[in-house]
Amino acid sequence: MEGGVRRMTARPENVHQARILRLLRTDGPRSRAELGDVVALSRSKIALELDRLAALGLVRSDGFAASRGGRRSEIVRLAANLRFLGVDIGATSVDVAVTNGELEVLGHLSRPADVRDGPTAVLDQVLEMVAKLRADGVVTEVHGAGIGVPGPVSLRDGTPIAPPIMPGWDRYPVREAMSQELGCPVLVNNDVNMMALGELHAGLARSAEDFLLVKIGTGIGCGIIVRGEIYSGVSGSAGDIGHIRVDDHGPVCACGNSGCLEAYFGGAALARDALAAARSGRSPFLAERLAEKSALTAEDVGAAAAAGDAHAVGMVREGGRKVGTVLAGLVNFFNPGLVVISGGVAGLGHALLAEIRSVVYQRSLPLATGNLPIVLSDLGGTAGVIGAARLVSDHVFSA
Ligand SMILES: [Zn+2]
Repeated sequence: MEGGVRRMTARPENVHQARILRLLRTDGPRSRAELGDVVALSRSKIALELDRLAALGLVRSDGFAASRGGRRSEIVRLAANLRFLGVDIGATSVDVAVTNGELEVLGHLSRPADVRDGPTAVLDQVLEMVAKLRADGVVTEVHGAGIGVPGPVSLRDGTPIAPPIMPGWDRYPVREAMSQELGCPVLVNNDVNMMALGELHAGLARSAEDFLLVKIGTGIGCGIIVRGEIYSGVSGSAGDIGHIRVDDHGPVCACGNSGCLEAYFGGAALARDALAAARSGRSPFLAERLAEKSALTAEDVGAAAAAGDAHAVGMVREGGRKVGTVLAGLVNFFNPGLVVISGGVAGLGHALLAEIRSVVYQRSLPLATGNLPIVLSDLGGTAGVIGAARLVSDHVFSA
């Protein structure tokens, strides 16, 4: 190489270094002695690996721990300049966050966007948001970026595959294009899988190894975490529960089939039903809302239900029953330790949760539900970006 040092993102050189980096990412700063307790290596071997990681610029010293008797142990933490980008492309919004090595969010931008505008427009917007974060000074060098998209993704190619709600994105090389633009490793995955990883890292699933994350937004999907890792299936489409048929004669779905769960209770389905309820006069609340603005959304249904509008309450209950029925089957099949409900429509809140719980506890086997919390996410829209950063950090922190 000529002309000085070319900046390359340092990577761990072996599995021990990779393990130490992931531990420091997930658990935060640790003393050398504590690391020695967790990583089964001799004291001198640990010291050697930590010295290499420091030389690579991946970890730094952060003072000394209180004495456990004898010499005080040096505290080690991830390098201060490590930065990951988490990008969450939704059907109607784009979120970009920058995190440090421990995946704490240092800056987060959220903007409305229509995924149907196609990859060029949406990815340009992502790059603009990254530029804004750079201008704000929260991001300099990026060590990796994770990108979640609202559709099935070929993990081998990093491309969406025939995504029903993303016209124009089929086989678009998202990973390659963005990795070239950002100059760092990029991983692309389904947005629901990213949210599940976010829950695992920073949410209610922190201590769960095997759990399900059900996202009810514009679409409905399920992230499956097995032993702390995403289970994606053979080709990457595991967890696409929105297209499980709940009624042979149901409404037509965006995927072309009819009677899918999503055709009953996704954001689009709720907007459709809200409009019908407003026009027919079955819901005075929604009729009033419709008179104020030209369209209705799932949020309006939530507001109507919260205000006690009987028809809206019925819509939420009916949707909760349908989700619960599918989820009861999944619980019997997978026996998760936890189910987290998330997504925009999950903002319908506790009425929805109560309905889902009641169906699952009724219909799943007692052994599967005996110790099964079903909870609403408390990450408030940051699960997707944290999970995306987590996914790419797994990649960067691997040997
Ligand atoms: Zn469908």
